[in-house]
Amino acid sequence: MTKLSEEDTKKIISYLEEKWRGRPCPMCQSGAWSIQDSCFQLMAYHSGSFVIGGPVIPLIPIICNNCSNTVLINAILSGVIKPGEELSKIENKPESPMDKMSKDA
Ligand SMILES: [Zn+2]
Repeated sequence: MTKLSEEDTKKIISYLEEKWRGRPCPMCQSGAWSIQDSCFQLMAYHSGSFVIGGPVIPLIPIICNNCSNTVLINAILSGVIKPGEELSKIENKPESPMDKMSKDA
């Protein structure tokens, strides 16, 4: 799991301010979002096997504080992570994302 630096978090905040312009959650119309401090990845599906080294899409989850609707922002297209930069930033954190989320709540 790649932990976002403070600078990365600022990048995603300014990106969302520019693109979303303060829009509320489309599901519940609440306005409060939480940005996860880690980058996750979506892996290509291969029926019946787990493929290491296949194509992945790095994603940053943005979660509605009211209804938990989760929006996934592409970390490369949003400019937070440069292509090929992911490996140099990997930190192994034993903490699970669910632990982090419950602490934030
Ligand atoms: Zn919501």
